[in-house]
Amino acid sequence: MGRPAEERRAELVELYRKLHADHGCPLKASRTNVVFGMGKADAELMFVGEAPGRDEDLQGKPFVGRAGRLLDQLLEEIGMPRTEVFVANVLKCRPPGNRDPLPEEIEECKPYLMRQIQLIEPKMICTLGNFATKTITGSPMGITKVCGRPQRREIAGLDLTVYPLFHPAAALRSTGCLNDLREHMTRIPELLAQLRETAAERQPQSRPEPVGAVAAPSESQLGLFG
Ligand code: URA
Repeated sequence: MGRPAEERRAELVELYRKLHADHGCPLKASRTNVVFGMGKADAELMFVGEAPGRDEDLQGKPFVGRAGRLLDQLLEEIGMPRTEVFVANVLKCRPPGNRDPLPEEIEECKPYLMRQIQLIEPKMICTLGNFATKTITGSPMGITKVCGRPQRREIAGLDLTVYPLFHPAAALRSTGCLNDLREHMTRIPELLAQLRETAAERQPQSRPEPVGAVAAPSESQLGLFG
């Protein structure tokens, strides 16, 4: 059994406050809002995008523009509401004009993303697009080579499945990408079911007491309560 959702939520709130108080991001001057991420504190599935865009910067929430609406629609098609997942970005601030993130910006934001992953402990992370995929996997392999192929990775000290997908913004520009993204997303429920099964198999089984076993001493026997 993992940690209770309330405990994770409380620590995420603490991290959210820390991000707002201490975030020394080089993008501080140009952003409107820091975009922490949002969703279920004990989600089995996490989505990681690149960086907030204009709508996200204005609202302080991830994936709320056109790309976000497509993500919501595709989630709905597989019977998974947004409230069941956690959505975050590599960068917590919008790069001006949506330019590519710079190494020093990634450096500043990555520890927050890693901490989010540690607190949520998802079974699977869907990386959206080239940038998030390369940042999370630490591999230079581009999205077109790896999309739709789940890979086992150690991320933030956890043994996780990373499932790279095309970015919804790319799917809005290309029907080919949209078809691939939709097809790859339909596999999510089945992948999660497999991961649940594997996790259940790994749980220590409660075994019947062997005949003749000595019962564990109770607390009173240990002399703790007089
Ligand atoms: N694109 C992203 O990568 N993230 C968002 O939050 C919005 C658009």
